[in-house]
Amino acid sequence: MESLRTHYSIDVTSKEYGKTISVAGWVEDIRNIGSIAFIILRDRKGTLQITILKKEDIKIFEELVNISRESVISVEGLCKKSDKARNGYEVIPHKVNILSTAETPLPLGVVDKIESELETRLDNRFIDLRKQEIQAIFKIRNEIIAAVHEYLKKENFIEVHTPNIIASSSEGGTDVFKLKYFEKEAFLAQSPQLYKQMLMSTGLDRVYEIAWYFRAEEHNTRRHLNESTAVDLEMAFIKDEEDVMKILENLVFSMWKRACDCKEELDVLKQKIEVPKLPFKRVKYDEVIDKLNNNDCDLKWGADLGSEEEKLLGKIMKKEGHEFYFITKYPIEAKPFYTMPQESKYSRGFDLECKGVEIASGSQRIHDVELLTDRIKACNLNPNDFKSYLKAFRFGMPPHGGFGFGIERFLMNLLDIRNIRECILFPRDRTRLTP
Ligand code: ATP
Ligand code: MG
Repeated sequence: MESLRTHYSIDVTSKEYGKTISVAGWVEDIRNIGSIAFIILRDRKGTLQITILKKEDIKIFEELVNISRESVISVEGLCKKSDKARNGYEVIPHKVNILSTAETPLPLGVVDKIESELETRLDNRFIDLRKQEIQAIFKIRNEIIAAVHEYLKKENFIEVHTPNIIASSSEGGTDVFKLKYFEKEAFLAQSPQLYKQMLMSTGLDRVYEIAWYFRAEEHNTRRHLNESTAVDLEMAFIKDEEDVMKILENLVFSMWKRACDCKEELDVLKQKIEVPKLPFKRVKYDEVIDKLNNNDCDLKWGADLGSEEEKLLGKIMKKEGHEFYFITKYPIEAKPFYTMPQESKYSRGFDLECKGVEIASGSQRIHDVELLTDRIKACNLNPNDFKSYLKAFRFGMPPHGGFGFGIERFLMNLLDIRNIRECILFPRDRTRLTP
């Protein structure tokens, strides 16, 4: 336990009544009514009340009522039962330690009723993150990631860490951040794709990474970040993509279930969530096209779904009783070069959709080096840029598949958060590079 604090606000029980305790945190509010003052002190678990009678200790009284909001203090005092105070007790201070004085005015209020613009909030993220409802998002995030480790460990996956500075683009696209690597040119990895596949040739045949995706996409949308995180997974010796989809749906289920257990945080966020039913519906791409076309949406065969089409499909699927569904058997031309083709124009690629938003993409991959080289060329890429990747396919590569599953995308759907920027501590978007 920290020396400046013996108790967190909500951990104090009737056992402490009548005893001396130390509490520490931020001064959320000060109410001075002349002869008596109340300080609301906030710590990571909640808030508590400090009560000071002027006549009892004029020095401490003056010190506390003149402190600026959001200053950091520690207080030693008597823990006194009080039915009127929050948590059923108040602290009568006999020693106050001002650890850090907050400047005034605050760039952003913590408990103000008026809602600030997202931009202002993000500019002052360190204060924004002091709000209970914002912290709740990251506490839930922490829990769902714990659920990832737990579930995947149970399924015999090992966690790996692959390079973020790489020599060729991982997804083949042009949306890459270039950087100078001594005398060479390098890129920030769009995903661990190439490396996790290379690991499939090693015998470490089930791997995952909580990965950073760096994507130089120019668009500024409410569901894209330029730096995001994902559960990125690869598994070998699969029969086909269905093996991968089973792991993905069970993973999503475990994460969602764990989030349902975060009762306190969900209350703070005023969210009610229910565990989804397994298995998730599988819808073939061709059926998706039919469904869309029957609803006045004209999507050409072969194209990837745009956000509007995804949204419409989400509505159609919801009517049919599905919030989660896989779109399977994508046209090969809509999927990246490493995707396993099927019956020439189709592929073993799939997306997982949640409430009309893509949350994951995966596939069975090509493990034959000739076919892979052909696909690289067909996608207008140069096999020479993929030499070290391709080499891993020439000396024994088992059939394999995997997926990339966006953590922020998942969170925004889980908690009905409108903007993905709320789901990452310090978002990077088209214009934001600080804080
Ligand atoms: P989208 O079509 O939605 O832009 P994508 O198909 O380009 O995504 P993939 O390469 O399939 O993305 O990445 C796998 C998953 O990673 C996505 O389903 C999504 O959950 C997440 N993801 C990808 N790009 C981003 C991004 N720019 N911001 C946030 N999450 C992302
Ligand atoms: Mg995708």
